[in-house]
Amino acid sequence: MAQPRVLVIGGGLAGLAATMRLAELGVDVDLVSLVPVKRSHSVCAQGGINSVNALTRQQGDSEWKHLDDTVYGGDFLQHQPPVKEMADWGPRIIDLMDRLGVPFNRTSEGFRDQRRFGGTLYKRTAFAGATTGQQLLYALDEQVRRWEVAGKVKKWEFWDFLGPVLDDSGRCRGAVCQDLVTMQFKAFPADAVVLATGGNGLIYGRSTMSMVCTGSAVSRAYRAGAWYGNGEFIQVHPTAIPGADKLRLMSESARGEGGRVWVPRIPQDPRDPRSIPEAERSYFLEERYPKYGNLVPRDIATREIFDICTTDGLSVEKDRLCVYLDLTHIPRETLDRKLGGILEIYEKFQGVDPRVTPMKIFPAVHYSMGGLWVDYEKSGTGGMVEGSIRNQQTNLPGLYAIGECDYQYHGANRLGANSLLSCIFSGLFLAPSLVNVCGGKPGGDTTRLFEAEIRRQEERHRELLGRTAGDENPYALHQELGNLMTRVATVVRRNDQLEAAYDDVCEMARRWKRCAVSDTGNWTNQNVVFTKSLGDMFPIAKLILKGALLRDECRGAHFKPAFAMPGLAATDPVEKRREAEQWCDSFEANTEKWLKSTIAACGPDGDPEISYQEIDTSLIPPRPRLYGLVGGDAIEEVWKQRQGSVATSREAVVPVGAGS
Ligand SMILES: Cc1cc2nc3c(=O)[nH]c(=O)nc-3n(C[C@H](O)[C@H](O)[C@H](O)COP(=O)(O)OP(=O)(O)OC[C@H]3O[C@@H](n4cnc5c(N)ncnc54)[C@H](O)[C@@H]3O)c2cc1C
Repeated sequence: MAQPRVLVIGGGLAGLAATMRLAELGVDVDLVSLVPVKRSHSVCAQGGINSVNALTRQQGDSEWKHLDDTVYGGDFLQHQPPVKEMADWGPRIIDLMDRLGVPFNRTSEGFRDQRRFGGTLYKRTAFAGATTGQQLLYALDEQVRRWEVAGKVKKWEFWDFLGPVLDDSGRCRGAVCQDLVTMQFKAFPADAVVLATGGNGLIYGRSTMSMVCTGSAVSRAYRAGAWYGNGEFIQVHPTAIPGADKLRLMSESARGEGGRVWVPRIPQDPRDPRSIPEAERSYFLEERYPKYGNLVPRDIATREIFDICTTDGLSVEKDRLCVYLDLTHIPRETLDRKLGGILEIYEKFQGVDPRVTPMKIFPAVHYSMGGLWVDYEKSGTGGMVEGSIRNQQTNLPGLYAIGECDYQYHGANRLGANSLLSCIFSGLFLAPSLVNVCGGKPGGDTTRLFEAEIRRQEERHRELLGRTAGDENPYALHQELGNLMTRVATVVRRNDQLEAAYDDVCEMARRWKRCAVSDTGNWTNQNVVFTKSLGDMFPIAKLILKGALLRDECRGAHFKPAFAMPGLAATDPVEKRREAEQWCDSFEANTEKWLKSTIAACGPDGDPEISYQEIDTSLIPPRPRLYGLVGGDAIEEVWKQRQGSVATSREAVVPVGAGS
């Protein structure tokens, strides 16, 4: 029998974790990446990785609470069994990475230090200064190199995945990729193909993501028939520094270490921020959410910052929206030890020392909660069945997706420091499933399939190289797309704008066909590679806009003022109670209507066909997401009473096993 072989596309944390474990399990791996794997976007991750640990357990934390924080943070839009499995694996993953040599920060007693991140009250985040992604990535890269030397892994860096190759039954039998140096095409037959190709921030032009995060690989799989889930859920991070070329993150770890967000109470107060007295500052997050303070989840912090600047007119600057993120009260030694990496970024790009002067920050596109739809098999204990070939499988048999490019773990809003966990977890957890896939591989000669696909790709490439006379510039068109998406599909969404933007994107996709390439050479032609990936952005942009247009509600990162549920206005206790009852009725009706995954399938004309799927909320029932909002107590009280009566009637009939 031929040796099992898996093709992994992407060498970020997810791809490297899968590759390492597959090799350990005896499977040969081809690992393909646009960039050297050590330059994958994961290297930019700053703040940390979440897991329950000995310290948080002493304060009452548990894997169950990590699950609860994650689904509450995600506004209940994710299936709960995969999240449970991920939270259960958290402590093992941190121990593993520690053993592999990640230099996690330590306390003076030698324990791993932990910081608090958004959406939780526990210090659950392990970190290596403010360069956690780099340390994790290098540790996994080292392991993969060992397997490379042992002959189990073959790396293909500077190669572009052009699409899966499907047989007549629709099963994925491998892929065709292109060498970005020689521009040659190559077939990669495989027993399974794993996409670990990260996010798609470039659709928004400027974002905190790396410049290779175009979403091209996912788009190619989508157009080959893979479904895309929850596309409209795009995370806008509350704290980034604007730049002409890109937006640079100021990690949530800054607030985790005590950073405070504020604006002067006087609009555009011209004084040096350090001379503005406390009483004349509005620490608006702390004032509105005293329980979570500056560490409310990202969707909430982002909207509050956006609102204080646009609605309340309290932006620090008049011509550029921004608020202060202040670290100046924290000792310099602590800042350097725990946040050195990000402070250097601010200093380098803004020319100001954030240890001395408050930073100026504003929200920026950061992460896609949506991604390729993937399956899972639920276990008897409410998690996932290890080794099931359904885990992480797209709707195309044999094609799998892990890491940021899948839609599985973060629902409507990702909690900070949960992504590195989901990437490593999904990579490690998938590997035994693929061993089982390899065991039952289909037979039949696939040469004909690969030859035909290579011919098709070569023709497409030739056609693009021949386009020298078009009247469109791919870089200008990309900027137009980014500006449009940023304007209509980020913090605030309105149906009339989404509808118009959808038509505009369809028109841009048509204009793309007239893009001229300026480089017609067939050696390291970046121009043609970019133009191809620009063409791949339109189908994903369309499904983001269509999903957002159809979803008439507010959930997590998706906010439509027309469907917002305002807080309670009454002060009289009886009236307040009545309003709270009404609010809970609306919440229940909305949950009934909209607590569903959006599934986009690529139609024959390239437009998304949208359907909805039920979500498994069997472990933790959905509840209003208030985070201790001032004035939200009456709603919470009514809700708890309703849940109390539901639980009492449920306990009378069903023995409840979840929560163990
Ligand atoms: C600035 C920043 C800081 C962050 N900090 C944190 C943090 O502290 N904690 C946290 O949990 N999360 C953080 N995140 C999120 C987290 O970094 C990412 O979600 C995660 O690293 C994604 O990993 P991945 O393995 O899925 O993909 P990536 O690391 O993006 O890797 C994708 C891989 O796919 C390859 N690829 C892509 N397209 C193709 C193609 N067409 N052909 C071939 N190869 C392809 C790339 O070359 C690359 O190797 C941060 C995000 C940003 C933007």
